[in-house]
Amino acid sequence: MHAEPSRFQESNLWSTPIRDLGLTLEGTRLEPILAEFEQELRQVGITRLKPRWYLSTEWGVPFETIAIAIPFYLARPDLTALHAEKVGHIEGFNRADILRYLRHEMGHVVNYAYRLYDDEEWVKQFGSITQPYSEEYSPEPFSRRYVRHLPGWYAQKHPDEDWAETFAVWMTPALDWRAEYGAWPIASAKLAYASRTMAALRNRDPEVTSTDLDEDVGDIEYSLGQYYGNDAGSTENLPPGLDGALQAIFEDLTGSDAISPVHSLKPAGDLIRRLEPELMANVFRWTGHFPERTRVLLRYLAERATQLDQGYLAHREDSAIIALTTLVTGLAMNHVQRGSYLP
Ligand SMILES: [Zn+2]
Repeated sequence: MHAEPSRFQESNLWSTPIRDLGLTLEGTRLEPILAEFEQELRQVGITRLKPRWYLSTEWGVPFETIAIAIPFYLARPDLTALHAEKVGHIEGFNRADILRYLRHEMGHVVNYAYRLYDDEEWVKQFGSITQPYSEEYSPEPFSRRYVRHLPGWYAQKHPDEDWAETFAVWMTPALDWRAEYGAWPIASAKLAYASRTMAALRNRDPEVTSTDLDEDVGDIEYSLGQYYGNDAGSTENLPPGLDGALQAIFEDLTGSDAISPVHSLKPAGDLIRRLEPELMANVFRWTGHFPERTRVLLRYLAERATQLDQGYLAHREDSAIIALTTLVTGLAMNHVQRGSYLP
């Protein structure tokens, strides 16, 4: 597959150090969203603690600070589009989604500002903050021990994330968490702890106010070209036997009389490529299978479908989408639970 080089790759922006791109929060579409978020904070009674915002490579709060890192690619629509093209998955794809991330990150800010993680009850509810932090985690979808907020059952990643997700649900406007989590006693207890704790902190100044930035956009020496690099993922962990799965799906979508001429079929490879962004996001949301892994799997399936000349009748497109989605979800669930696509 050969993608057209984007106008970035042809421009010298591609090789300019990111710190020299002049990226700031001022005047961007992020500013009114941050103002809206500050209003949300006032509404839940957080007035003594004011986070500092800055642009970096990804969402986060450096440990023991109250500074919230926002992905630099959200500061400019052209960079957001570039990120979508290169990575395929945007964390903060619109106003509502950006607010979701801000509520989550604010949970870390509150945790560090008041050193909640040292509180005996915090440890009882969420676990120890010193638990090793691993990018890999194997969530149990729909576990009733955790709230659901960011995609990928993110609360299950680490006690600090469990707290941040719980805090985010607690502070989400118009969300009746008591009703929503009424049948989830463990998650409910965590939310009740957040609610009690935040009431108690209302009039307390934070203990920690450091805003030391980690990888501020103004310090990043590498370029967009280096940041996005060669994005071809490894296909070595893909399972054998996927050709048969593709054939099983598409042989049923070429017409019941099996005499449809091949030229009247729509190419399956194109459909799989078109579904890529939505499948990456949704499979991650409901299974926890990382978007970048789903992309490798889908690109391989698209390539095989093209090589095997797979196609479908236009009026069976919904069936093709459902079949492909279910296939990929099944493989993703295996990978999340076992670390491999096949048992
Ligand atoms: Zn987090």
